[in-house]
Parts: sequence; structure tokens; C-alpha cells
Amino acid sequence: MKLEEARKSYRENSQITPSLRRYMVVLGRFIVKLLPIAPKFIVRRIAGRYVAGSDLDSAVSLMKKIDKENTCFTIDVLGEEIKNLDEARYFVEEYSRVLDEIILHDIDANISLKPTAFGLLLDKDIAIKNMEEILIKAALNDIFVRLDMEDHRVTQATIDIVLLMQERGFENIGTVLQGRLFRTEEDIKNITKSLGEFSDFRICKGIYLEPNEISYTRYEDIVNATNNCIDIMLESGSYTAIASHDYPIIDHSLKKLENMQMYPDNDPRTNSIGSRKGKGIGYEFQFLLGVRGDLRRELASKGHLTRVYVPYGTKWYEYGVRRIRENPDIAWHVTKTLFMPWTNRR
Ligand code: FAD
Repeated sequence: MKLEEARKSYRENSQITPSLRRYMVVLGRFIVKLLPIAPKFIVRRIAGRYVAGSDLDSAVSLMKKIDKENTCFTIDVLGEEIKNLDEARYFVEEYSRVLDEIILHDIDANISLKPTAFGLLLDKDIAIKNMEEILIKAALNDIFVRLDMEDHRVTQATIDIVLLMQERGFENIGTVLQGRLFRTEEDIKNITKSLGEFSDFRICKGIYLEPNEISYTRYEDIVNATNNCIDIMLESGSYTAIASHDYPIIDHSLKKLENMQMYPDNDPRTNSIGSRKGKGIGYEFQFLLGVRGDLRRELASKGHLTRVYVPYGTKWYEYGVRRIRENPDIAWHVTKTLFMPWTNRR
């Protein structure tokens, strides 16, 4: 199916009447309320779509399976905001195993770290040391490391770590910026000023519902702000990983790429670094595991580099429930996926 047809069919299928939508929102809220008391197997069934499994083997076999779809991966070990620093050792060791498996199986993958899982909110210096351990091993094997962006308490600290690591000579690190935050445009400018052609961003709307003093809260404003960030990133010569499943963002990005004459095999920008191992030429599209696979496959069939974010880990239950409770939009997506599966193909 062509992208235009897929989009048309998505719109037609998504034409949910206001009363049906209201009903589904209520159902979504009901599901969210029930989750903490629901038997684990039910939550597993819902979360199963979005999580590769509870161990690294499941993630590896899933990636080998999806590999046929002409995509690459980012691996994420589930878990965040630890309560004591001993817990951080688990993440250091597990990510080290992840790197071993990427190398052993020659998987086209990089990794994403959540700084709070390494102790950022407990002891910044120890957290940096922990992440540096992973970064060194990844750098020696030419593997890229992205710091996921968490809520506003750690935005500046996360950016500072990326800048510090680049200062220490690591070129295999980048972070994520969230279009919904007012500060993001300024952050792009500051980061690109410091890192120049080594600036490497993932841009997304932002999953955390931030206060309206610091972020946009209306859908249209979030989309516009995110699209504006994509433009600034692309124009600045930065590597730009567009992480969204939303047509207004994908369409905008495709149009912008075309205007800049950036194609899967051509990046005419003179201020960019050019192609690097494991990356596309200047940009890529990123998708969460289990979300809008049809759109991802369509983009891949047109030659665009696509990447699937693959979370796994023993903490899948806490992660799933917490995420769903944090952002009611996810409950809406889950309800839609459960009852209208055609709107979201795996
Ligand atoms: P939406 O309007 O939310 O979604 C568009 C359509 O996609 C929906 O109608 C639905 O069909 C489908 N969809 C989207 N999300 C889901 C879902 N969870 N379940 C089922 N269907 C869904 N946020 C951060 O704050 N920090 C990060 O580091 C971060 N990393 C990310 C990495 C990747 C690869 C991706 C894709 C997202 C990441 N996000 C991150 C989340 C992001 O900020 C958004 O919250 C999320 O992608 C939903 O926004 P959307 O642009 O896809 O648009």
C-alpha cells in the first residue's frame, strides 16, 4: 500500500464518532483504574505488544525476526529512577551484556540509556561514571548511545552530560529533545553551537505531561512546536532522528526533507558530518515497538532508514502500568489498539 493510501485508509478507519470516542475514553480510563489490580497476565497481554520480553534473549530473537522488515533498532533496558545506587550496577551490567549480544549477533542496533536508572537523581558524578563505562565499551565497538530524555527535572542535567562526554572525546553520544517544552528551540541552538556537526538528536513530542508554565499542552501547539524543532535541526546540519507515529509530523518531515533535497542516499547539506556507521544519511524515522508498523514498513520501502525502539526487561510490569497512568493518551491508544486494531498495525 502506498503511503498516501495508507494515510487515507487510516483517516477513514479513524473516523470515530464523538460519542464512540467518548465511550472509548471512558473505557480507557476504566482500564487504567483497573490495571493495578488486574491479574498480571492481562497487563502482560496489553504490554506484550510494546515490550520485547523480560530478558535479553527475547529482545534478540524479536530483532532477528523484524530484521526482515528492513529496519534497525535501539535497545532499551526497562527501568528508571532507582532508589539506591546499587541498583545502577544492574543497568551497567545489563547494558554491557546488550553490547556483547549486538556484537555477537551482528545486529544493526544502538542503545538508549535513561540517566535516572544510572543514579542521576541520587549522585550525578556516580551516574556519569556509570554511563561512561557503557559509553567506552560502545565507542570501542562503534556503537551509538542515546540518552533518553526524561521529565523536566533532568532536562538540563541530561544535556550537560552529553556535552561533557563530547568534551571528553566521545563522538558516539546524543540525546533526545521534546517538542512540547518551550525551552527546546533554545536547547537545539546551544547544543549545535557546542557540538557542531556532531550534534545528533532524537526529536519527539515528549511523553511526560509537563506543567503549562514550561510546555505546550494543546495537541496543535505540540505538533507545530515539534515540526519547528525538526526544521531547525535539519537546517543546522544535525543528524535528526524523527520519533513520531503522527501523520502531521511525518508528512511535515517528508516535505521538509524534499525541500532540502535530502533523500535516503543524498544529504546535500554542507554543514553535516555525512554518513556514519549504523546511521542514515542525515536523518532517520524512529518507531516504538508495536506501534504503526504499517507506516514504518512503508517508509522503509521508500528507502528511508527506520529504527524500532525495543524495550525489554524484568521491569516491564512497573514500566507499563506507570506509563499508562502517567499519560492518559496511552490508555486511549491501548483501547484503540485493542478494539480497533486496524488503526495500528504491528
Ligand atoms: P500520537 O498522536 O501520540 O500518536 C499518533 C498515533 O500513533 C496514534 O493515533 C496511535 O495510533 C499511535 N500511537 C502512538 N503512541 C502509541 C502507543 N503508546 N500505543 C499505541 N499506539 C500509539 N518521549 C520522551 O519524553 N522521551 C524520550 O526519550 C522518548 N523516546 C522515544 C523514542 C521513540 C523511538 C519514539 C517513537 C517515541 C519516544 N518518546 C519519547 C515518546 C514520544 O515523545 C511520544 O510521546 C509518543 O511517540 C507519542 O507521540 P506521537 O508523535 O507518536 O503522536
